Amino acid sequence: MNYRKLYEDNVGIIPENWEIHHIDFNHNNNEINNLIALPSMVHMIIHQSGYIPRDEIENLIQIYEDNKQT
Ligand SMILES: [Zn+2]
Repeated sequence: MNYRKLYEDNVGIIPENWEIHHIDFNHNNNEINNLIALPSMVHMIIHQSGYIPRDEIENLIQIYEDNKQT
């Protein structure tokens, strides 16, 4: 399953250096609501932390993006 293409077809273009994360860590669950695009750095953090719900991932992305610009 090409989940990057699945994501782009359903949600939109994945920015450069962003990756697709399976929110429930199940790579066989390619439901669109289980996929989220995020910067590779944030992706790494999540995999070190364990399960993080979508709204908290979105907060992390926001914090990362805000800090990147300063
Ligand atoms: Zn992941």
